[in-house]
Amino acid sequence: MTNQSSFPYRLRLPGPTAVPERIQNAISRQVLNHRGPEFKEVVNATAALAKPVLGTENDIMFFASSGTGVMEASLINSLGEGDRALVVSNGQFGERFTSIAKALRIEVDVIEAPWGETVDADAVREKLREADYQAVVVVHNESSTGAVTDLSALGKVVGETDAILIVDSVSGLGGIEMRQDAWGVDVLVSASQKALMCPPGLGLASVSAKAWRVIEKDNAKPRYYWDFRKAREWAAKDQTTFTTPVTLMAGLHEALTMIDEEGLDNVLSRHQRLADAFRAGGEALGLKIFTEAEIKSNTVTVFTMPDGLDGNDVVNRMYENHNTVIAGARNWLAGKVIRVGTMGSLSEADILTDIDYLEQTFSQLNYPVTSGQGTEAVTRILNQET
Ligand code: PLP
Repeated sequence: MTNQSSFPYRLRLPGPTAVPERIQNAISRQVLNHRGPEFKEVVNATAALAKPVLGTENDIMFFASSGTGVMEASLINSLGEGDRALVVSNGQFGERFTSIAKALRIEVDVIEAPWGETVDADAVREKLREADYQAVVVVHNESSTGAVTDLSALGKVVGETDAILIVDSVSGLGGIEMRQDAWGVDVLVSASQKALMCPPGLGLASVSAKAWRVIEKDNAKPRYYWDFRKAREWAAKDQTTFTTPVTLMAGLHEALTMIDEEGLDNVLSRHQRLADAFRAGGEALGLKIFTEAEIKSNTVTVFTMPDGLDGNDVVNRMYENHNTVIAGARNWLAGKVIRVGTMGSLSEADILTDIDYLEQTFSQLNYPVTSGQGTEAVTRILNQET
């Protein structure tokens, strides 16, 4: 059920994102035997297509899971009895990593930056001298704020130690650059429903040689479903440990084929250009970009609401009047921000439509805007030579 509006339903969340027709068609095909030769070909090809997107030569392991599941899996496999983790936190999903670690009774310390900022790699270096940490845990693209962590700098710092670097790129992978091997990311986890353009339900993980040495150690790490050691054995046979969500894998195969056809560099620069245009449009409407981080997300844009505008009202009006689903916040920023996905199968027309609808919504909420002031700014960016 949608809101019965005459407008088409537009899913513009920071995930899940709209699934393109090609992927919908791939998903709707008959279910294959998850241990049969046809499906092994799908798994093999999907892993091969995923590697450049992750920037890795590691094996790729797939799980029936949401993003949180593979976040938990990354900790379960890496941290055992007596191990200590350092969570580098700057938003809601960093906090989630801390909560998961605590639930798993892992000894955890947190190094924090205010929401919207990022933790400096040198500060992490200092912190790593204070205790014997087995893992540093961080969110690549903080979807609650739009701040991106410089993994290249952090990877260097962690690489100077015996600790492994565990990264959640649930909302980054496929929309912003990821170079797992070059940056020294040891455990990388992500999920299907964001820049990878698929429905929710598929998680993936990739593990470096350094991390495998830690994961293989059996220091009382209780694990069964999430056991990366078993997952690696099955990945070598182009299968997953338990029954694969075969239809989602068919979808991910199609998504990665689309990325391959467009060219990864082109996909990433399209995200950059459309995010730039969206940010410019919002700023022209008087909105402030929430994050002050050096690297701003090209997959999730978070705008601070000006005085007189409540983010929840904007979210509700966008849905009621334009059948367009954007996000607010489900934390202390509720009402203060709006969050919009700028990832996946997105075009210039989507960005123009978003800003046009925001402009109309602001007017309806008696917030002064001049008609066309946002879309003109979008057009200006889109017309720039690349
Ligand atoms: N990590 C990040 C950065 C996310 O944006 C999200 C979801 O929005 C998650 C983890 C959790 O993913 P899921 O909701 O699929 O469990």
